[in-house]
Amino acid sequence: CGIFAYLNHNVNRERRYILEVLFNGLRRLEYRGYDSAGISIDSLSSSDSLSPLVFRQEGNIESLVKSVYQEVATTDLNLEESFDVHAGIAHTRWATHGEPAPRNSHPQTSGAGNEFLVVHNGVVTNYEVLKETLLRHGFNFESETDTEVIPKLAKFVFDKANEEGDQTVTFSQVVLEVMRHLEGAYALIFKSRHYPNELIACKRGSPLLLGVKEFNEDAYNGPSFHDVKFLTKNEQPKELFLSSDANALVEHTKKVLVIEDGEVVHLKVFSFFPHSQVVGLVVMAWYASCSLL
Ligand code: GLU
Repeated sequence: CGIFAYLNHNVNRERRYILEVLFNGLRRLEYRGYDSAGISIDSLSSSDSLSPLVFRQEGNIESLVKSVYQEVATTDLNLEESFDVHAGIAHTRWATHGEPAPRNSHPQTSGAGNEFLVVHNGVVTNYEVLKETLLRHGFNFESETDTEVIPKLAKFVFDKANEEGDQTVTFSQVVLEVMRHLEGAYALIFKSRHYPNELIACKRGSPLLLGVKEFNEDAYNGPSFHDVKFLTKNEQPKELFLSSDANALVEHTKKVLVIEDGEVVHLKVFSFFPHSQVVGLVVMAWYASCSLL
């Protein structure tokens, strides 16, 4: 029912801060109604051994918040550990397929290891056909949601590309291929263990917005939103937000870009030169030619 994501770059943020930004995003989406909620953050600040953590809870945001802090207290996760770059995703669910329960809450995952994680607003109308195909390919399903086919399809596409020797398949190529197979309405945000510190957002029918903070507005006088854009070191945003509702963005930034149907937004830190990191926002069209299957 509501999706939210937060990517910080070149600004140190403690785990506690990242969690609170995600929780506050969800609190701003609360008025839309929901029956469960969930988030995903990274376990380590070093992306070498990155493994995304998933927390999901039935009920209100505060019960998710409580369960996350309780669970964190039983692990060696340090809330004060800081991340120079980190991508987190969050979801409030209004169940359409599968009862409200932790296993049906989002993020939905590709399975053990959380290789691909997805938060979804909307309904995938052809999920039964996709599920049958994925079951035949050996995937096990843990939820009754329509959403679960999406991260599993992403893993299928990623594994297939790698088996065929394409180790350079990008996150957006994987998502473009997944989108080709989805019918229905959706706003989606993807996170992946294979693409640390990157997020992909796309939509068809459901609303999705991108918020950019610490941003030199002059930089946008050039190419249109539909072109590939790179921001120079002086112009780079330090914090990026994705949300299904402007409500969750206004406390962070006034710079809000509307994502259109069929666009794929790739939030990624690009390294052009050693020691220089530049955040690039890449927006690609739905019909971009990408066929991996
Ligand atoms: N159809 C999905 C589900 O039931 C997403 C529902 C929503 O938009 O919250 O899990």
